[in-house]
Amino acid sequence: MKFQDYTFCNEIKQNLEELGYKKPTDIQYKAIPSILQGEDVLAIAQTGTGKTAAFVIPIIEILHNRTRKSRQPHIQCVIMEPTRELVIQTARVCNTLAKNTTIKTLGLFGGVEQDPQIAVLTKGVSILVATPGRLFDLISQGYVSLQQLKILVVDEADHMLDLGFIEDIKQLLRHIPRYRQTLFFSATITPQIKDLAYSLVHKPVRIQISPKDPVSKNVDHYVAFIEMDDKRFFLEQFIKEHQENKILIFVRTKVRAERVKAAMARVQIHTETIHGDKPQKERNHIMKEFAAGTIQILIATDISARGIDIPNIDYVINYDMPEDAENYVHRIGRTGRGTKRGSSISFCSESEKELLTHIEEFISKKITVIDIDKQIYKQTILQSIDTNTPLQEILKEIEYIDSKRKKKK
Ligand code: AMP
Repeated sequence: MKFQDYTFCNEIKQNLEELGYKKPTDIQYKAIPSILQGEDVLAIAQTGTGKTAAFVIPIIEILHNRTRKSRQPHIQCVIMEPTRELVIQTARVCNTLAKNTTIKTLGLFGGVEQDPQIAVLTKGVSILVATPGRLFDLISQGYVSLQQLKILVVDEADHMLDLGFIEDIKQLLRHIPRYRQTLFFSATITPQIKDLAYSLVHKPVRIQISPKDPVSKNVDHYVAFIEMDDKRFFLEQFIKEHQENKILIFVRTKVRAERVKAAMARVQIHTETIHGDKPQKERNHIMKEFAAGTIQILIATDISARGIDIPNIDYVINYDMPEDAENYVHRIGRTGRGTKRGSSISFCSESEKELLTHIEEFISKKITVIDIDKQIYKQTILQSIDTNTPLQEILKEIEYIDSKRKKKK
């Protein structure tokens, strides 16, 4: 079935066409009719499946039909998101799909001045996309009333729980009507998520996309066994061999992110980092540049990059193996989005092999091993040092590697 065959208003159809969305994705095909009928939905679907549009399209259709042009809009829908990046991204999807309709969307998040947000709120807003903190601030100051809320969406619920937002979601229930439609989305399902979901939804339609295969089918997975201290040489080589590609590199901590950036800078590779220590403004700027392709290589921590929708990421590199198998799913979900293909390559050291086993169990499949011949392994390290580097730098590098190796012994 094509989008043009649905009974959406013409404005939505036109917006879908402009976006180049012709047919619904699996989750959209399953979720849209139920949402339009006013049913609660409990969906297990990872990002990259088109889940945002799966709830945004029917919400706009419902609200557009309810809102008269002459009346000032009031808040009828709240979409809860775990991070500012996701608020911005989801609000953008709402605005794009609601173009020329009566629906106004506002993205609310902390870390920025509240006055401009209040100014938009006073003019009237139909959909609020928000992180819990700023939403509650504005409710307590009387700028936001959710008394007339019709639809509540909890997006990325598993991520919400990871960030400790469970109490916030429960608190939200005190501010919204009991009779409402609730749409609950999570990439993974655990007993805790189930409990939370069933405390919010009423007789939901359950939708699960590829239950045994939580990762997008558009992603090819590889793992290469590389020792911790050698990873930077292999990253350098990979980047140099893939100069045309957009690459997202995951590391475990903020400090590691800066270290890998510095290691790449030493071999004249420009990268950027995104992590919790960077001011929001800078993070937004970097994400914009990465989306536009002016930045080709981004080094990120799990939290900072979760859920972000950047077009055309060709490779996700797990420079550090994720400690939590669920994070693997989130990381590699950054590539192979929509109808695009992508690849994920994990650099796995001896000490990380156990994490690899957990990941393989979690995604119920073996990850293809890239065999690196011993000779090639050695050459990769040596090559990194000899390219156009002054002698002093080479000696410094050799000393550095030697001292690391001695320390290890
Ligand atoms: P999401 O899972 O919501 O983060 O969406 C993943 C990507 O799929 C986004 O880049 C969307 O623009 C794209 N997308 C969503 N729905 C469709 C569709 N029906 N056809 C093509 N691309 C889509």
